[in-house]
Amino acid sequence: MKHRDTGLFGEQYDRTARQLPVIGEQKDIRYYSSPARSVLNGPETTGMGFWSINPYVGCAFGCAYCYARYTHRYVMERAATDEKMTDVLGEAYNRLPPWLAFERNIFVKRNAPGILSRTLRFGSDRHLKLLDGETIVIGTATDPYQPAERRFRVTRGILEVLAEHPGLRVSIITKSPLITRDIDLLSRINRLSDLSIHISLITLDRELARRIEPRSPTPESRVRALARLREAGLDAGINCMPVLPGITDNPSDLDALVKRVSEAGATYVGACAVRLQSAAKERYLPFIEQEFPHLAERYRNTYGNSASAGEKYREGLARFFEKLCAKYGVRSLSRRYEEEGDESPDSALVPSVQLSFEI
Ligand code: SF4
Repeated sequence: MKHRDTGLFGEQYDRTARQLPVIGEQKDIRYYSSPARSVLNGPETTGMGFWSINPYVGCAFGCAYCYARYTHRYVMERAATDEKMTDVLGEAYNRLPPWLAFERNIFVKRNAPGILSRTLRFGSDRHLKLLDGETIVIGTATDPYQPAERRFRVTRGILEVLAEHPGLRVSIITKSPLITRDIDLLSRINRLSDLSIHISLITLDRELARRIEPRSPTPESRVRALARLREAGLDAGINCMPVLPGITDNPSDLDALVKRVSEAGATYVGACAVRLQSAAKERYLPFIEQEFPHLAERYRNTYGNSASAGEKYREGLARFFEKLCAKYGVRSLSRRYEEEGDESPDSALVPSVQLSFEI
């Protein structure tokens, strides 16, 4: 028996189809239809303390520090071994280094809204039982409002499904002002469920952002998006993540950033230093060698055998952000977690030293 899924536009997908067809091209980016078997990723598979949804695999924003490249490599390798490669994908697989394939070959889960709808509609589904009281985070591994969304609207389809189900806890992480397109749906979800929006912003410096996050929206456009979301009465804050030691951690720049986003109404500001797992290291460390050679040795020393910045650095950064948040009257992320009774990812840090560039 064939297993068929319904896509966003009512189209039928055969989940057992062997090929991943090209469904669009935009300059040097190709989009492939990649029907998903399930949409909700459970904490037990991701190792994170919440459920997650990623409408796309791969991300055209191309941030040098991106930690999610391994997910794409996995999909490419699986496509190769399952013989799901189209000629075009196979050629890209052989020609592009994995870090660049992540940015240029985007897999679109067009059937994701249909699958999510079925999952949430049938109460017997194990996901629904496990979801009770848990948070669903959209955009943990790729940006749900990257350029593909303008065309394929998978994220919007997912929000339409969530808007039909009261009592959920939903978080969205993005760098893109495209999220303001969906203020109508976000407001509906907000009335029925607990919704929070996290805009990622590591610097206000447009040129610096362009070097580090080459195809992502400008910092000003993200701040404007934040202000629009807040004007719509939505809970929206800023993830200043990751802070890049020696590059984006200048104290006066961070002060200006927290000041600016607090003026735009941010409900919280969170920050943490860059973490580099192996796939991220493969891209980020050569990037540092090329773009910031004066920092290369310090990065090699710190991240050569570790995924994290030194403890003193992390403590100093946490303390510095606590001070900035107090100065500008905005909640820090760790304080928000405390007030909501949740465990903060940074709760183990006891800030006690001045911010320094020593990592
Ligand atoms: S926006 Fe997020 S997922 Fe996309 S490249 Fe940047 S860090 Fe990675």
